[in-house]
Amino acid sequence: MRLVYWCWCLALASVTLGSLAEELEAKVNVVDLRLKAEHLFHIASLSNNTRAIGSIGHEGTLHYITRLLREHQGFYDISSQTFNVTFNSIRDYQVSVDGQAVNASAFYYSPATGNVTARAVAVELGCEENDYIDIDIKGCLAVAQRGGCTFERKAQLAKSFDAAGLVIYNSVPGEGLKGTLTRGNDEVGGLVPTFGMSLEDGLKLVNSVSEVSFFMDSAFEKIETRNIIAETKTGDHDNIVLLGSHLDSVEAGPGINDNGSGSITLLHLAQTLAENNIQTENSIRLIWFSAEEVGLIGSSFYADSLTEKENLKIRLMLDYDMLALPNYAFEIYEGDDLVDPVGSQQIKNKYSEWYALHGLNYTFIPMDGRLDYVGFAQQSIPVGGIATGAEKLKLLEEMEMFGGVANESFDQCYHQTCDNLQNLNYNAWETNSKLIFNTLGSYAESLNGFPARHLVATKSLADLRYMYRGDELFI
Ligand SMILES: [Zn+2]
Repeated sequence: MRLVYWCWCLALASVTLGSLAEELEAKVNVVDLRLKAEHLFHIASLSNNTRAIGSIGHEGTLHYITRLLREHQGFYDISSQTFNVTFNSIRDYQVSVDGQAVNASAFYYSPATGNVTARAVAVELGCEENDYIDIDIKGCLAVAQRGGCTFERKAQLAKSFDAAGLVIYNSVPGEGLKGTLTRGNDEVGGLVPTFGMSLEDGLKLVNSVSEVSFFMDSAFEKIETRNIIAETKTGDHDNIVLLGSHLDSVEAGPGINDNGSGSITLLHLAQTLAENNIQTENSIRLIWFSAEEVGLIGSSFYADSLTEKENLKIRLMLDYDMLALPNYAFEIYEGDDLVDPVGSQQIKNKYSEWYALHGLNYTFIPMDGRLDYVGFAQQSIPVGGIATGAEKLKLLEEMEMFGGVANESFDQCYHQTCDNLQNLNYNAWETNSKLIFNTLGSYAESLNGFPARHLVATKSLADLRYMYRGDELFI
């Protein structure tokens, strides 16, 4: 086919070369990425090496992004969306039987309680009222197996039947269980102190005749923060291409890769579009999400507050988080139209085609709830994105595909104080920024062939597909 139609193919190739996607891709400037990374690091260094919500470094980050965007007020409509986060820290806890401490973890968003001694009572999965009815659970420690519903649902039911606490034990042998009860939304309540255990320890508790003693020292703090939104003034506002990156770091570090890298690439893109006065067929909306690190709160808040009409205008959401790890892999979120909003698969294919075209290897990562796309997918908006790894160990076959070091974490500085300027691989970052610029150019120029939007019933938070909520297990 190619040989027969070579003339036509060449013509098509030249069209592609002159496309907005190619034009934008060529404008990625590593020096600019580096300067911005240095600036973000400087902001963190003035704030005890963090840009986490509630810190001076966080405010500094918000101001920095807003200041750079305001230089292009003629090009963008700029706004922000303020919301509250309930931040939880577990200061101390213990579970013991007959004076012996039991191996347990404390679930985030557990309310505090002083010393309690209570009978342990099994409630099966603890997902239905039926699991509690006919059991005298009042003042007892409910013991449920993991599975069937969210941890939050289990803790709510235990509360509604006046249990004093809850143990959730793992459904597979060998491992303990740690997770979060809720998303850290504004209002957190109606839960009981909740502990995680291994399957073995949980069953021991169920069969124990002794009473169980426990306490939970847990503190809550309300923090106000905001998402920053910039939308091109031109383009069709009924067909929006939305790009998102989270702007906050964890408390433990400056977050230069996580997610300085993603938020800087978006900032570099914003400036490039404006400085070159790029006009596109479809509108471009760029969002820097806050409070990702405490449970994807900013992105969920944004997606949940869209009216039906506004929701339908967003054709797709592309999420960019951790683009430049030293021991990187090129990872694509594995969108699947059978379970994700229709169009997600096409986004995945677009990324793979780009890597393949550039002779680069890539892998897929499951869409299991760890990143900011979740809120959008749950509102039936097609989603996709790329990353370069996290705390997992790199496999031998991944080393063969991407270089680097096998059996070492993709990011040895994941959520640590050393996620600094040394925690960046500029080749990976440049490559991924080019992909992001290219993809944006392509979708902003045309969404022909991309599935039209439909609202399907909002997927429940208990969607078993999203077993994580950010870093923590949720189901
Ligand atoms: Zn991140």
